[in-house]
Amino acid sequence: MTDHGISSDLEFRKWILLQPEGKTLLRCYQCGRCTAACPIAMIDESFNPRLFLEKLILADESLAQERLIWTCLTCEQCEVRCPEHVKIPEILVLAKVRGLLSGNTPQTALDRARAILSEGRTILVSEPMHKTREKMGLPSLGPPPVAQLGKILKELGTVERVESVESRYGGAEGE
Ligand code: SF4
Ligand code: SF4
Repeated sequence: MTDHGISSDLEFRKWILLQPEGKTLLRCYQCGRCTAACPIAMIDESFNPRLFLEKLILADESLAQERLIWTCLTCEQCEVRCPEHVKIPEILVLAKVRGLLSGNTPQTALDRARAILSEGRTILVSEPMHKTREKMGLPSLGPPPVAQLGKILKELGTVERVESVESRYGGAEGE
């Protein structure tokens, strides 16, 4: 049991397998196609989705503490290429949730949450991005409905949760 009341190892894997997306981990046979398709793995060889899943299969809770998993783009390229349709991005989200529950809160995560609350988006949509969308014939993004979004997030208790995490951890250093 950790300081935060979370059991490690088998308990962690059991928790992942209890989630609907997490169950798909049982189908992984470690072929590595997910890693071959991953745009982050292409530029950073320490980011390896196949290896992340291996850790989970081996019930290694250290995955939840890895800052690396926070660089996942949730682009789903891995899932599309996986012959077993393992829900890799969702499983990585579960690992992040587990990390958050035990106090592993990278500053990037808090920054993204704050950006959603204040800007309605996690990234700044730049002028070149608008132009690229226009060239590709995609519709204009327009301003996000920040006020409505703020109301919904307040109603859901998200604002309170972000503030509580910020006051407890203030974001882990080095991110
Ligand atoms: S592509 Fe699918 S089966 Fe292959 S290692 Fe990745 S998750 Fe496992
Ligand atoms: S969802 Fe994450 S792990 Fe999968 S391909 Fe995209 S960046 Fe890589």
